[in-house]
Amino acid sequence: MFCTFYHRGSKGNCNLYSKWIIFLKNKQIPLSGRNPLFQDTLNVRPHLLVLNKMDLADLSSTQNILKKLEKEGVRNVLFTDCLRQRDENVKKLVPMVEEMIETTDRFNREENRDYCLMVIGVPNVGKSSLINSLRRTNLRKGRASRVGGEPGITKAVLTKIQVSERPLMYLLDTPGVLPPRIESVETGMKLALCGTILDHLVGEDVIADYLLFSLNRLGKFGYVEKYDLQEPSDDIQHVLKRIAVKLRKTQRVKAITGVGNITGTIPNYTAAAYHFIRAFRKGELGQVVLD
Ligand code: GDP
Repeated sequence: MFCTFYHRGSKGNCNLYSKWIIFLKNKQIPLSGRNPLFQDTLNVRPHLLVLNKMDLADLSSTQNILKKLEKEGVRNVLFTDCLRQRDENVKKLVPMVEEMIETTDRFNREENRDYCLMVIGVPNVGKSSLINSLRRTNLRKGRASRVGGEPGITKAVLTKIQVSERPLMYLLDTPGVLPPRIESVETGMKLALCGTILDHLVGEDVIADYLLFSLNRLGKFGYVEKYDLQEPSDDIQHVLKRIAVKLRKTQRVKAITGVGNITGTIPNYTAAAYHFIRAFRKGELGQVVLD
């Protein structure tokens, strides 16, 4: 996920040409699906990369991820868990952004002491959750002060939410949705697995198959015990059948034959796949980094 920080321009408007960027991503796929347009933007602007959902990721991969990102020139990185009541790293976000801004030329906005930022990222990465978490952490209250929009510009776009008192910092309340760049089938599958693409567009059964493949590839065999399997398996039909039986997700079917109608019960593979994918997204199948 990207958050884009804007400084209030000297005329009181949000100056989109001098933005400080916070890029928010899912820590389970820290490298997949980056949009090249934003990559270009990142090359010229000071920015902060927020890797969210760190509770779902395998923390042993952190140093590797940091090294890869540093090679690409990304130095300001924060790992967050936006669902936690008090996340220490979410607490660090405002001071980090403030320092980045203070150490950068502010051009004609030297005198302005308040900042405005926009959260940008692919769908489902946690943009709204980050906004809520910042409000909870810095203001210690659920309700945020809203600031009206500028005249002549759609109010919904410029409505601001206060997220910090000192320094005075606001978020634009409409998170920016960033279309991911899908450069290969594998990247597409990772994005689908993390909920960035609507499940039904890819197919729950296909996503579940890729999930099983990934868990086996990474040696994350927690699913074996969770679904009472004898051993790891790369047969998605077999695994989904076990899940369906365990969760009693079955369906009645009727077959018309030459000797009459026969009814029977079969596993509901779609429901089982849906459960399997959700279990992964909730971290119930272990902490995983797909990239
Ligand atoms: P948005 O579409 O980018 O605004 O994403 P949301 O804020 O709506 O979050 C999408 C889903 O991810 C929701 O189910 C959130 O509860 C969940 N989520 C957000 N942040 C975290 C996190 O840090 N950890 C975990 N485990 N889930 C998260």
